[in-house]
Amino acid sequence: MEDRKITVAASAGFCFGVKRAVDIVKKLASEGGKVYTFGPITHNESVVDELRAMGVGIVNDVTELEGIKDATIVIRSHGVGREIYKAIEASGNKTVDATCQFVKKIHNIVDERTGKGEFAVIIGDPEHPEVKGICSWCNGPFEVINSPEEAERFASKNNSNIFIVSQTTYDTHKFEVLVEILSNMRYNVTVVNTICNATEIRQRETLELAKNSDAMIVIGGKHSSNTRKLFEISREQCENTYYIQTHVDLDLSAFKSFRCVGITAGASTPKTIIKEVLEVMSEENFEQMLNDSLKTIHNGEVVEGTVISVKEDMIALNIDYKADGIITRSEYTNEPGLDLRTVVKEGDKMQVKVLKVNDGEGQVLLSYRKLAAERGSKRLEEAFEKGEILKAKVISVLGGGICVSIDETRVFIPASLVSDVYEKDLEKYKDQEIEFVLSEFNPRKRRIIGDRKQILAARKAEAMKALFEKIHVGDTVEGTVKNITDFGAFIDLGGADGLLHISEMSWGRIENPRRLFKVGDKVKAFIKDIQGEKVALSMKFPDQNPWVDAETRFAPGTVVTGKVVRMPDFGAFVEIYPGVDALLHVSQIAKEHIDKPSDVLKLGQEVTAKIVDFSLADKKISLSIKALLAPEPKNEAASEEAEAVATEEEKKDETLA
Ligand code: SF4
Repeated sequence: MEDRKITVAASAGFCFGVKRAVDIVKKLASEGGKVYTFGPITHNESVVDELRAMGVGIVNDVTELEGIKDATIVIRSHGVGREIYKAIEASGNKTVDATCQFVKKIHNIVDERTGKGEFAVIIGDPEHPEVKGICSWCNGPFEVINSPEEAERFASKNNSNIFIVSQTTYDTHKFEVLVEILSNMRYNVTVVNTICNATEIRQRETLELAKNSDAMIVIGGKHSSNTRKLFEISREQCENTYYIQTHVDLDLSAFKSFRCVGITAGASTPKTIIKEVLEVMSEENFEQMLNDSLKTIHNGEVVEGTVISVKEDMIALNIDYKADGIITRSEYTNEPGLDLRTVVKEGDKMQVKVLKVNDGEGQVLLSYRKLAAERGSKRLEEAFEKGEILKAKVISVLGGGICVSIDETRVFIPASLVSDVYEKDLEKYKDQEIEFVLSEFNPRKRRIIGDRKQILAARKAEAMKALFEKIHVGDTVEGTVKNITDFGAFIDLGGADGLLHISEMSWGRIENPRRLFKVGDKVKAFIKDIQGEKVALSMKFPDQNPWVDAETRFAPGTVVTGKVVRMPDFGAFVEIYPGVDALLHVSQIAKEHIDKPSDVLKLGQEVTAKIVDFSLADKKISLSIKALLAPEPKNEAASEEAEAVATEEEKKDETLA
């Protein structure tokens, strides 16, 4: 450790006025007889306690004098009012006046000047005993002013001459501000600066010392106004300023890293207290006492600390021990590669477990993860017993399953329990937050097993129940295409899948369902049948049935136009209406002989033909282009033969479809 520099303010401690008063009391006490001080001799509890131990009592009020006889009453350094002297005299006790000469001077000034008719302005704290005493020595009008607002409001009734005095321990700068305000009024102002030199010097020294120190110690009684003022001045210059009454109040760990420490003390602080503080802060003692003041720790103990620095993979913690603690990434979290700067910052408080008091390099090895895991383990045990649904992020994907982490406790979910359907690729779960229940909890054997499948299965069963309660045959439903096969598509209805068979996809002919749908498409269909959990769907809505009115729409002799949609060798099928294909037999395409339709037609080609036959029962329509051409001598036998061939070939086509 580098040398620490400690500087004590030259005038720190007792001013001569307080010292004189304390010496007077000690001398009287040592001479025997009953000794009292009127009020505490100084605002320092240690001094008061010391005098009390010597048998010195305190009179707080004149009424207490009644029970005191043949005693010596010492007036303290900051003086009292005129009436107190009279009361002591009246009680028959002896008065020893230890009022500081600076304070006595103020008493005399206000006594004399107010006696001559001047108005006294007393700048100070109206509640301070010294100010109360000064007021009592006035023979005429006076006012106590303690703020610029009060100074602005000041108005003496009939006096044009005012004189200003001050509480001896008042802040010099503040005094000057108030004097400035009062001087700019219409009065003849006389200023008598009665601020004590001792106060001014201490304040100036404190200011300079604080400017050049890493930390400041201000020693004095909590009720001492001059010590509080020193504290405020110091803190403005040095944020690490500590206000203590004695060395016992020192928090040595706070000074560990300060190289330059200043010490100052209020005018009511005895040198002995300053000396004690100085001794504690001296290098050898500091080290020893610092070590003594720091706690001892043991492996396995849980301690609290404050983060003093964070790196990507390591945290340093002040645990109020002589060495700082270290948490490596793996002792912070189960999550590999986590940047610790994203989760922890300087100043954070953490509870940790001590792994090793000395890691060999003088640091303490700590674990946040183990402590969190212990707590996590308790929480998991409760969740296991209650069957509670837990939620956690997947931190790793292994060959046989996935791992999640709850409060730094790992839970393994086997692949078979990850989902209610077979999951080929578990990687998609990485970093996802998932829900699960615990199916096994045995931390001793390191078996904490999660189960997501049962949650999904239960939710599906619920959804299925709700679905089947609300759907009926004939209902129109909406769903999402989940899977497509050659024979149809499975539609997710939200609770169960419905099968939309290829034959139910359209009133027309569908060659391949994949040309009509893709997975994820929204589909509107109606429920054709329900058998147990099997739902058959259909998109052949009756009101869209093209065969309604077909008898009149497609009556033989009607000329229609449509596109060629298929061409087997025996003819071409022409879509003459959405969902209605009619056969143009090869023999009916032209007058001349054609081997096969593709010799003269193309798929998608638009053709116009006449309906030559219609069967509603068989849903069959026959076309003829030839019938539109100029008539030729009729050959009944040939025509009948062509029709017979067409019927035969159509039957084959139907069988194939
Ligand atoms: S601070 Fe000044 S006025 Fe007050 S007792 Fe000390 S010397 Fe006297």
